[in-house]
Amino acid sequence: MRLVRYSNKGKEGFGIYEDDLVYPVAGQFDHKRKGKPFPVIEAKLLAPSLPTKIVCAGLNYKDHAAEMGMPLPEEPVIFIKPSSAVLDPSGVIRYPQMSHQVDYEAELAVVIGKEAKGVSPEQADGYILGYTCINDVTARDLQRKDGQWTRAKAFDTFAPFGPWIETEFDPSDQLVEAFLNGDLKQSSSTANLIFPVQALVSFISRIMTLHPGDVIATGTPPGIGPMKTGDEIEVRISGIGSLINKLEY
Ligand code: MG
Repeated sequence: MRLVRYSNKGKEGFGIYEDDLVYPVAGQFDHKRKGKPFPVIEAKLLAPSLPTKIVCAGLNYKDHAAEMGMPLPEEPVIFIKPSSAVLDPSGVIRYPQMSHQVDYEAELAVVIGKEAKGVSPEQADGYILGYTCINDVTARDLQRKDGQWTRAKAFDTFAPFGPWIETEFDPSDQLVEAFLNGDLKQSSSTANLIFPVQALVSFISRIMTLHPGDVIATGTPPGIGPMKTGDEIEVRISGIGSLINKLEY
């Protein structure tokens, strides 16, 4: 099932996307259909959840760690993107005046479905609503300059995700790719994750309560690189689909 959030004729709502139609539902976590379906082209798809926070894993692909010459971390390294960074799936990423290097990072995103606090890896699947694509857009020069992540990761529009939440998805071996203006730049399988999805949900939930709609970005494969204004960046994940955004001033 593909869960969407949409805006149609000035009204926002949640729905199920099926065969080019959107079936409105009672809520993001209540999938009872209500009202008449409408063609998806009549609507604008919005970021598919309303997270209170986006928790990101740094350095979580074995092949990316090898590329960077970094040892494998013993525990996940995490940071937060604020909810103000959220961007709709067709939205425009804005190049900040403060930065001279804005990079793409294609990542698998986990969307939380139920309040999670201190859950074990074995319990984690029960707290996951589904999966989507996210671009962990990063002002790389500011990351280096600051020696930490907050400013580099937190600009408005630096968290495009979507276009929908896929609820039937096996995250154990899926292809995560980035295409810059149609050219393949990143490609790896989630089988290369150092900390798989269930381990991340458990680890993070032992630090902070995860609320329904919260998003976990699971880390990026090798091949990150810069974008320039006018570029089109696509995050493509097998079993989900594509998130495509443009970068402009
Ligand atoms: Mg990242």
